Amino acid sequence: MPGDAKIIDGTAVGKAMRAELAAEIAALKGRGVTPGLAVVLIGENPASQVYVRMKGKACQEAGLYHETLKLPKETTEGNLLGLIERLNADHKIHGILVQLPLPPQINAQRVLHRIDPAKDVDGFHPENVGKVSIGDASGFRPATPYGVQQLLIRSGVETTGRHAVVLGRSNIVGRPMAALLLQDGPGGNATVTVCHSRTRDIGGITRQADILIVAIGKPEFVTGEMIKPGGVVIDVGVNRVEDPSLKQGYRLVGDVRFAEAKRVAGAITPVPGGVGPMTITMLLYNTVQAARQWSAP
Ligand code: NAP
Repeated sequence: MPGDAKIIDGTAVGKAMRAELAAEIAALKGRGVTPGLAVVLIGENPASQVYVRMKGKACQEAGLYHETLKLPKETTEGNLLGLIERLNADHKIHGILVQLPLPPQINAQRVLHRIDPAKDVDGFHPENVGKVSIGDASGFRPATPYGVQQLLIRSGVETTGRHAVVLGRSNIVGRPMAALLLQDGPGGNATVTVCHSRTRDIGGITRQADILIVAIGKPEFVTGEMIKPGGVVIDVGVNRVEDPSLKQGYRLVGDVRFAEAKRVAGAITPVPGGVGPMTITMLLYNTVQAARQWSAP
């Protein structure tokens, strides 16, 4: 029936997954291993500050060891690389995350490539990108697409044999999302199409999507008529748009026009409350995976 798309609740799924993870954290602690995460923040980007605070809080609630390392925006690349080396050698730390974006004097790629791949819980090091691409489960899956895949699995969305269209090809979301959907296993085995800014007739392609995953950073880009009736829509976008009627002067919207899309889709994630809470949950999962792999005999 039009207008009654099922809402995929990332907050609830994330909460249930964190509860499941608690047993493994307790078992690791029982063996004397407390999974530890270091989050590095350079400068004062307001959105980054919020994300870093949320990650620290999530670690605390889950009983993980965590350190937030804040450096001034003038930090040199050399100093940051030195810090990464120190964290690579620190036995309390199993996962290292450098919050992006970095200031212009620092080459993000050089920094991300310096992180020990065994501690690269963001999954941005080429070794992990390669492992994810060939389906090696010891590789770290980037938290946002990993969260989307878990949302699909846990919401009972079948991916096998379905046409999944990914809008966006960034290294953080679009590309690893496509790789995960292609894997041979749960939440995989889809037929995958990836669209980007040079794609022609995007609407013609998105309308064929049994599962449409949107990550382009363009507020409310996807309209109702770009969606296949009954399809599943996962909105990764988080955009601030001005709204003088609100105290903070803005509201958060996704990359999908939610009210319209909800009338066409069979299931849809809201923004906020969809993919966002899953991203932090999967960061906890990756940190626990890092500690498990580090402590494995
Ligand atoms: P990004 O690095 O800016 O990449 C955007 C991608 O979208 C690029 O591949 C770009 O194509 C494509 N694109 C841009 N405009 C387009 C258009 N008009 N038509 C088709 N494709 C277009 O962004 P990102 O880091 O992937 O993030 C995407 C969105 O997800 C943002 O809103 C971000 O805030 C959000 N996000 C949310 C979470 C979460 O936890 N919820 C996590 C990460 C990101 P080209 O490659 O051709 O330029």
